[in-house]
Amino acid sequence: MIEKQSKKAGPPVLPELLAPAGSLEKLVIAGHYGADAVYLGGPDYGLRARAGTFDEAGLRQAAALAHLAGVAVYVTVNIIAHNRDFAGLPDYLRLLQEIGVDAAIVADPGIVALAASVAPELPLHLSTQANVTNAAAAEFWQSQGVRRINLARELSLAEIRSIRQRCSAEIEIFVHGALCISYSGRCLLSHYLTGRDANRGQCAQPCRYRYALMEEQRPGQWYPIEEDERGAYIFNAKDLCLLGRLPELVAAGVDSLKIEGRMKSLFYVGSVVRAYRAALDFLRGLDPDDWRRPEEIVLPKELLDEIALTGTRDLTMNFIDEPPGGSDMLYDSSRCVVQSEPVAVVRAVASLPLVEIRNALSVGERIEYMHRNGRNSPATVSALFDERWQPLQRANPGNRVYLSLIEPVPGIAVHSLLRRRLTAPGELATT
Ligand code: SF4
Repeated sequence: MIEKQSKKAGPPVLPELLAPAGSLEKLVIAGHYGADAVYLGGPDYGLRARAGTFDEAGLRQAAALAHLAGVAVYVTVNIIAHNRDFAGLPDYLRLLQEIGVDAAIVADPGIVALAASVAPELPLHLSTQANVTNAAAAEFWQSQGVRRINLARELSLAEIRSIRQRCSAEIEIFVHGALCISYSGRCLLSHYLTGRDANRGQCAQPCRYRYALMEEQRPGQWYPIEEDERGAYIFNAKDLCLLGRLPELVAAGVDSLKIEGRMKSLFYVGSVVRAYRAALDFLRGLDPDDWRRPEEIVLPKELLDEIALTGTRDLTMNFIDEPPGGSDMLYDSSRCVVQSEPVAVVRAVASLPLVEIRNALSVGERIEYMHRNGRNSPATVSALFDERWQPLQRANPGNRVYLSLIEPVPGIAVHSLLRRRLTAPGELATT
């Protein structure tokens, strides 16, 4: 349960940092790098049917692991449900209650009512799919027993602040990740074009496709369509990033900051969580007087640089100041700009760290150890040894090797990540 904002003057209470967990490994990495809570889904009732999902044993294991680390677990049950979906749902909701997950994320009023009836001890969080855009709607859902509301993404900072002031339910907002061109994810584009229904967790992401035009009497002759000279990815929104606006969002009193991306990589989850955790820790260290004008609080530039290193489709603040326009879309490509790549995950620490390789690594290469506190230690690989301590010149993805570095790196910890920069520091591509 989130600590509520103090009415007294002084620094605001920091919100929860909520991360995606598309697998047990991502759950562990998210917790390691500072997530307070994670969200994940089972195979049937969430919106990521093709992402790593958790069966009953997996859900039990995820809840146990997370709770051991002091991390809360929320499970998605946020499909837009049809009658046939209700078969089996009462048992699933009872299972979530019995496992002790910290909340179910729901969107459908029928599922809200069912959960209240069959699993009354299971806290409910309203999904952004329910499209709450005003305080009256928030109050309505609260009256139905919903503890937390993830607001629609189509809201300005002023609207978020106003809803916060008029509603006592917990308020959660998306701060980072991919955006849908549709209204808070309610979209039939994928269903029309591929038969895969986004509202049932099967989106094929056709908003990222490149489109052309064909006249029906001339099959195979494709005419380019260009919204402007850059191209025609007509539905392709840039990625959301509100890192730079955290001071104002914290001051507005939001309770939870959610990062999108259950289908994203382990490296992405760890990197983004780490940047937002470092930003929250920076805010925690401010003087109470600094909070008199939160819009003037500036986060360290290195944190924004870190986001650029994670791989983005360029960045937008979406609706936070005003409704987005053409400059918030990416017309010329749907590819992420990648400025660093994962090298390894630390699996054990003995005389040398034992690491699991993700991208091939050779002796002599420059890499970077990613500390939990947001700092990085550059280092050079001096030697690699296999698990029988035989020296190697090169390790390939999947290999587990002992890693020796020329420069000393203090505090190497299990679950930490190592990466390789694809651009030199100070040469970050603009995003
Ligand atoms: S097609 Fe694109 S806009 Fe529609 S639900 Fe899928 S990701 Fe979102």
